[in-house]
Amino acid sequence: VFEHVEQAPEDPILGVTVAYNKDPSPIKVNLGVGAYRTEEGKPVILNVVRKAEERLLADRSRYKEYLPITGLADFNKLSAKLIFGKESPALLEKRVATAQCLSGTGSLRVGAEFLAKHYFQRLVFLPAPTWGNHHKIFSNGGLTVKTYRYYDPRTRGLDYQGMVEDIRAAPSGSLILLHACAHNPTGVDPTPEQWEGLRQLIRNKRHLPFFDSAYQGFASGSLDLDALAVRSFVADGGELLVAQSFAKNMGLYGERVGSLSIVCKKEAIATHVESQLKLVIRPMYSNPPIHGASIVATILGDSELYAEWTIELKAMANRIISMRHQLHSAIQARGTPGDWTHILKQIGMFSFTGLNREQVAFMTKEYHIYMTSDGRISMAGLSSKTVPHLADAIHAAVTG
Ligand code: PMP
Repeated sequence: VFEHVEQAPEDPILGVTVAYNKDPSPIKVNLGVGAYRTEEGKPVILNVVRKAEERLLADRSRYKEYLPITGLADFNKLSAKLIFGKESPALLEKRVATAQCLSGTGSLRVGAEFLAKHYFQRLVFLPAPTWGNHHKIFSNGGLTVKTYRYYDPRTRGLDYQGMVEDIRAAPSGSLILLHACAHNPTGVDPTPEQWEGLRQLIRNKRHLPFFDSAYQGFASGSLDLDALAVRSFVADGGELLVAQSFAKNMGLYGERVGSLSIVCKKEAIATHVESQLKLVIRPMYSNPPIHGASIVATILGDSELYAEWTIELKAMANRIISMRHQLHSAIQARGTPGDWTHILKQIGMFSFTGLNREQVAFMTKEYHIYMTSDGRISMAGLSSKTVPHLADAIHAAVTG
């Protein structure tokens, strides 16, 4: 009965790792995957995560019972506090509904299905470009996907004018997906002044902002700075959604821990919203996994572990920033034509190099360097050892 089923294409991002794994070359480098690596090119478990796990393991009063549909209550509270801030009026007024979901992806998907069921406007506007999975998450969730201009290839920076024009032209009440910080794949974020302009525009048009926060703490190294855009939209008293992921900032990729928060006008509305989130989640996966959320709750709920986490997080962010400097210097040292300052200016895990599809294919074939075909490289996958090889490859691709 399945003879008609065709071979599906590989996921464009995860497919890069599949190709990398098949390459026997000893000099191969994987810059496709968005996961942190050490200077030695190895994945890491944060010390603070190990400590939290040891505590959890030692506590014999813990069981592996089902969590409630919306997850671990402590985790939800602490996760919301992390993004909105301790003194957030929305939290103090108890008008936020939060549900623990399956990392950032699951939080976005639950949000999309809730909106498709309960929000009057089905149009969601995504930045062009955006993380590839966004398109399918929102369309499979029942919304109609459109895009707004975001990246300008000429300046390798933000097309602020185009972004404003497209958001202004969107029908009133449209959903506007915004990357809270460290835009993926471009590494280009609005400035604080531009965020303020966007906030006023989005509120004036009565659009509904949906923030994707997958990199809090990873962009600047400061959890508070990376939450500023979200907090400015909360401070004006308006409604919004936020999907949070703990994949990158706690290195909990495979634990699938994240949350969806919906900021409402009143406490009673948030209660209704939460009850409806349960109806979305229950037939989808019933309830979320317990282990990752327990780790996060242990760390966020203990001042000593929290302080230690911020140090480890800053060290990861700093290593990435240092890779930007090393790569930029190495390209300059080779006299590669063009302006490469965007490597320094872009923020977060990725750099949008400006290399085209053919140049990427050349670098993979001749230098065994793997990245997505749009020229995005994971700065977190680089090390002092691999920077010269990458710079050689870029030089050859550009001058060849
Ligand atoms: N949003 C963005 C912008 C991302 O880059 C990612 C991870 N690559 C996610 C969401 C979701 O990741 P996860 O589901 O692993 O939390």
